[in-house]
Amino acid sequence: MESRYEIGLGNHDDKTRKHALDDPIKFWEEQADNLFWFEKWISVLQWDPPFAKWFVGGKTNVSYNALDVIVKKTPDKLAIIWEGEDGNTRNITYKQLLEQVCRFSNVLKSLGVGKGDRITVYLPMIPELVVSLLACSRIGAIHTVIFSGFSSQSIRDRVDDSKSKIVITADGGRRRGTIIKLKETIDDAIRNFDFVQNVIVVENVKNIISYTKKDLKWGSLMSGSEIYCEPEKLDSAHPLYILYTSGTTGKPKGVLHGTGGYLTHIYSTFKWVFDIKQDDVYFCTADIGWVTGHSYIAYGPFLHGSTQVMYEGALDYPTPERIWQIVSKHRVTILYTTPTALRMFMKYGNDLPNSNDLSSLRLLGTVGEPINPEVWKWYFEIIGKSKCPIIDTWWQTETGGIMISPVPGLETIPLKPGSATRPIPGISIDVIDENGKRTRDGSKGYLVVTQPWPGMLLTLWNDDEKYKSVYWSKYHTMYYPGDFAIRDEDGYIWMLGRADDVLKIAGHRLGTAELESGFVSHKSVAEAAVCGIPHQIKGEVILAFIVLKEGVEPSSELKEELTNHIRKTIGSIATPDRMYFVSKLPKTRSGKIMRRLLKAVSTNEKIGDVSTLEDEATVDEIKFAFAYMQQSMENNTR
Ligand code: ATP
Ligand code: MG
Repeated sequence: MESRYEIGLGNHDDKTRKHALDDPIKFWEEQADNLFWFEKWISVLQWDPPFAKWFVGGKTNVSYNALDVIVKKTPDKLAIIWEGEDGNTRNITYKQLLEQVCRFSNVLKSLGVGKGDRITVYLPMIPELVVSLLACSRIGAIHTVIFSGFSSQSIRDRVDDSKSKIVITADGGRRRGTIIKLKETIDDAIRNFDFVQNVIVVENVKNIISYTKKDLKWGSLMSGSEIYCEPEKLDSAHPLYILYTSGTTGKPKGVLHGTGGYLTHIYSTFKWVFDIKQDDVYFCTADIGWVTGHSYIAYGPFLHGSTQVMYEGALDYPTPERIWQIVSKHRVTILYTTPTALRMFMKYGNDLPNSNDLSSLRLLGTVGEPINPEVWKWYFEIIGKSKCPIIDTWWQTETGGIMISPVPGLETIPLKPGSATRPIPGISIDVIDENGKRTRDGSKGYLVVTQPWPGMLLTLWNDDEKYKSVYWSKYHTMYYPGDFAIRDEDGYIWMLGRADDVLKIAGHRLGTAELESGFVSHKSVAEAAVCGIPHQIKGEVILAFIVLKEGVEPSSELKEELTNHIRKTIGSIATPDRMYFVSKLPKTRSGKIMRRLLKAVSTNEKIGDVSTLEDEATVDEIKFAFAYMQQSMENNTR
């Protein structure tokens, strides 16, 4: 496999991994001890498969751990350095954040919100979003964040599913220089929903909007509210939030997370994975509308008293240099982003990152999709100047926190571009075959989690049956995440793509990531997506959709060159039956490629749930490219 990248960072501590392996329950109990508990648990794990309760009998509070505990030590440390898309900044200390959270907790209480009530949050990336989440956690309300790019129908479905008592939104959000009308969208989304008692509106852009009887203004509510709110002493298994998955593979699922176990998982992984130090400036580019933003913006960094940059807008606005300017301006030390964003930046070439001072960076993370080795190397060399480790983190909305990743805060291991390396200590992961047998090292199979873990979802909201069938019916005693992978001879895990998307070509199973990385390793290719479609003789054939780098023109010579390239890098088995050049790939609003759409268009099937699709025009483009190709093939055979 790939050559090795050894980066000396952190300590070398085999003891932790060994201890975690010997006694995972005791290990997690010790991690939970790092947090504040009003009352200690009676039992560490109550495992009633497939339902897990961690730290049973224990009472804690997320916001207390994230704020009060820190304020006692470093009240004036910056919690958030917020940068607006227009360049404005707001600095918020821990003491100020606690005060805001307390005030808003009191606001919610004054509106009759209590333990277990659901609150929908539909806000752009502004500090009030963080304040809302922490306030819900303080009083035991269950938050459910909806990404601020969603349309009213998608919101309506989610608000209806969660039966939220309160909706929090803003008079508008800034995106690519324009104002997004959030309040109008909400009005439409909750029409005739009597169960929604009030809508709280943050006056963010000072837009003129119309207010209804249900609406209340954030500013006036906050100024009339007390500055301290006693945190609720919540059961460890008390639900913290509902969050819908990205919808890459179908209709989004309402994942329900708890309090004490989740907190323990996030606290520990943030420390180990990011090797966090007191003077770090951490910047995660995710939106809080996704799980990465929940676990590693709204919660993880605060639990460690860290300073983080929070950015409001598009990372490439007004120019593709914006992200590097933010890193340089705030002296960011840890950057956590996605392969999709990296492929976009890579497409623009090296001049932009090279003309910004990125010397403050010391650690680089990625999440959300398999990272192509070529992109990994670019991130390593051009952004990290070959001195920052790349932390490829595999996890899901359902897992709550990071599951597979290098842990420089604990140990130094050689990195391999494209592999998320090993499970984090205390997490039991394996790769098994269709019959549940462990695959030989180097053989492909399905990723499974073999033991319950603290950040694990409680269930799917209001749907225990679906929870059982989606994650626990394939193997019964093991959690099935739905991903295809290899465990190599060193025990490293390589994610190969979604199990549903696996291609079966001439008796071989190929993960989408293998093929796509093959294309992306060509100098002209910015992005690639593949899917398999049925073929009478061959069983299945490969269709490849290619986005070229800036300035590269599509041509039949290039198609041939790419075909030869993929044959050379992967083998003749990977030869695509057809190749399409497109300007964009269909993606979820969280930026992940939706391969099921490519397949549906190409096989003329229904395209299913597209509520999370980022840009509907991409589907039309794919349809057009496909129809055009069909047409020319028919003409040729006439
Ligand atoms: P849905 O479940 O609705 O289809 P989704 O799976 O995209 O949506 P998320 O929970 O946001 O929703 O994404 C988790 C998935 O993302 C993982 O199951 C995996 O397929 C992919 N993923 C996340 N991180 C990585 C990574 N580092 N390497 C490879 N794949 C990753
Ligand atoms: Mg998923």
